[in-house]
Amino acid sequence: DGFELVKAVRNFRGRDDLAIIGLSGAGKHGLSARFIKYGANDFLTKPFMNEEFHCRVLQTMEQLALIADIKESAYRDDLTGLYNRRYFYQFAEKLLKETSRKNCLALLDIDFFKVINDKFGHEAGDQALKQISSLLRSSFKDFTVSRVGGEEFAVVLTDVNIDQAYALMDAFRARIAAYDFVINGQSFTITVSVGLTHFNNVTLTSAMRLADKALYQAKDQKRDCVIQHSE
Ligand code: GH3
Ligand code: MG
Ligand code: MG
Repeated sequence: DGFELVKAVRNFRGRDDLAIIGLSGAGKHGLSARFIKYGANDFLTKPFMNEEFHCRVLQTMEQLALIADIKESAYRDDLTGLYNRRYFYQFAEKLLKETSRKNCLALLDIDFFKVINDKFGHEAGDQALKQISSLLRSSFKDFTVSRVGGEEFAVVLTDVNIDQAYALMDAFRARIAAYDFVINGQSFTITVSVGLTHFNNVTLTSAMRLADKALYQAKDQKRDCVIQHSE
C-alpha cells in the first residue's frame, strides 16, 4: 500500500532528494499523519480542487529546490567556487568505505603565498587563488577538488594508482610553475608543493596525516615538487 511504498522508497531516496505527496480518501484524516511519519513530504485529502493539487506540488518542488540551493552553498567555498572543507570530509569518509576502489589523495599548498599577499596585496592574492582554482578545475575534471584551507587544496583521484596520480600531480605542478599570473597589470609566477598518498584501506585521519607529512617533506626539500608518501 501507499505507506509501504513510501517507506521502501525512503530506504534509498531521502525527503530532500525525492518528494512524495500522499493522497488519502475522505474521512481518513488519520492516514495523512501516517504518510508524513513514513516519510512523505506532504499529503492531500480527497476530494481536493485542481488548484489545491497544483499549489501543493509547486510548493513541494520549491522546497526541494531551496534545500538543494542551501546544500550547494554549504558545500562550496565562496571565493573559488570549489568544494569546501566540509564537503571534502564528508565525501572522503564516504569514499573510504568503498574499499574495493584504488584511489589517491593529494594535498597541495601554494609556496610562499604570504609573499604574494605582501607584495601585491590581499586582493591580488584572492585573484591568484581564483586562477589556481580554475586551473585545478580544468586539470582535474574527473576528480574531486576541494579548498581545504586558505591556500591549501585537496584532490581525490579515484580509480588511479599512485604512479598515475604522481604523473598527474606533477604535470599540474609544472603547469602552475609555467603559468603567467597577470593580476592588476602585474605579472608573476607561483609554485605549489604537493604531498601524495594512497587513499584506500586507511582511515581519513591517517591518510591526511600521511599526505601532510609528504607535503612537509616537499616544503623541506625544495618546494615546487610532488612527494609521494612511502611506508
Ligand atoms: P609555505 O611555502 O611554507 O606554504 O609559505 P606560505 O607563505 O604559503 O605559508 P603561510 O602558512 O606562512 O602563509 C599562508 C598565507 O596564505 C597567509 C595567508 O594570509 C594567506 N591566505 C590564506 N587564505 C587566504 C585568502 O583567502 N586570501 C588571500 N589573499 N590570502 C590568503
Ligand atoms: Mg598552508
Ligand atoms: Mg603555503
